[in-house]
Amino acid sequence: MLEYINHQLTVEGIPLEEITKGRPTPFYLYSWRQIERNIERIESVFEGLNYHISFAAKANNNLHLIKGLKDLGVGIDVVSLGEFYSAKRVGYNPHNVIVNGNGKSLDFLREMLVYQPRALNIDSWEELERLVELAEAEKKEITVALRVNPDVDPITHPYISTGLKKSKFGMDLDMAKKLIGIYYKHPYIKIEGLHLHIGSQILKVSPYEDAYSKVDNFIKGLEEHQLTFMNIGGGWGIDYYKDGNEFPLEEYKKKVIPILKQMNMEIILELGRFIVGNAGMLVGQVEYIKKTPHKTFVVTDASMADLIRPSLYNSYHHIYPQFNQGQEKEFDIVGPICETGDRFAEGRSLKSPMPGDYIVIADTGAYGRVMSSNYNFSLRSAEYLVKDQEVVEIRPREDFEEITSYFK
Ligand SMILES: *Cc1c(COP(=O)(O)O)cnc(C)c1O
Repeated sequence: MLEYINHQLTVEGIPLEEITKGRPTPFYLYSWRQIERNIERIESVFEGLNYHISFAAKANNNLHLIKGLKDLGVGIDVVSLGEFYSAKRVGYNPHNVIVNGNGKSLDFLREMLVYQPRALNIDSWEELERLVELAEAEKKEITVALRVNPDVDPITHPYISTGLKKSKFGMDLDMAKKLIGIYYKHPYIKIEGLHLHIGSQILKVSPYEDAYSKVDNFIKGLEEHQLTFMNIGGGWGIDYYKDGNEFPLEEYKKKVIPILKQMNMEIILELGRFIVGNAGMLVGQVEYIKKTPHKTFVVTDASMADLIRPSLYNSYHHIYPQFNQGQEKEFDIVGPICETGDRFAEGRSLKSPMPGDYIVIADTGAYGRVMSSNYNFSLRSAEYLVKDQEVVEIRPREDFEEITSYFK
């Protein structure tokens, strides 16, 4: 997708110079072809199973992209009422939406009783009790799955691991068993599935193998109650370091697919990062090359307000200068926000960028624009999509007049 042609960076063959013409930076840019390739790769792993891919909308909530995924036949999983309404807005049938979240409000649950999603994933006993009360009062049925926490270490950043015993998400298997026992003949609460999601940016197969084997044993131990679907979550990692270390699909196919196959249930997956992560990039422009006795800084117009992942998780993103000519030197790449944490990389070797050159921060299609903010009164950036060799605007940059008009 990103390639230097005649020393200039291109996206799906289009030179960066052309893409940035008349489009003020910073902005996010996505490749539709790359999203399609990612979906094709997922499909090749699950071929032959009864499965349903859903997109974790929290990774990227651009309605244009969500609509495109819908048109490709991809389902959706949401974690808030806002995401639920966006799914509806682009035409998803509410009965096909999967609903997550560990702190669903009364309003959220009430709406779910009205709309009847494909599955409402229950995070705790306390939440189920709240739902039972509402469902009984309104005499409405609802299909639920229990989010279980299999206590496995996904070997990823602590902020994005969710399947350990001490995590705030889900319930242990004993609690799930107890709840199934209590509610399995309930007139309104239909526990039809299990859900688990053990973390994000996972690059190893073994945590999945462990988690799914544990859940498989659990299901086999259930007596009369039959579950019909298994939501296996998401979390597949991508190759941020560009060193070939990406989620091992072949190994997954060999070791995990057989476990899922013999469960003999519908398999639902919820992938976010793997679908859009490597299909997006943040494009900024170099304002200054600032030299001090200790360091040389590339000061860009993009900042932590546009992309917070490096500041928040210390995450690595590969950075591509517009031109790959000249001598390689070490730089710190920073933004204009008044905060030392506003830096994308430290001591990074780049072929000398110049003021005015563009710069691309790669693999920011997931957890990029969705986490952007108005810090320092930054305006949230525009988003563009490269599709069929054309660049189209799919969300404009925020407008200063518009956002200041919200104040009373
Ligand atoms: C965030 C999240 C996902 C998607 O995670 P990725 O790492 O982006 O694939 C899936 N399911 C749940 C419940 C989530 O919270």
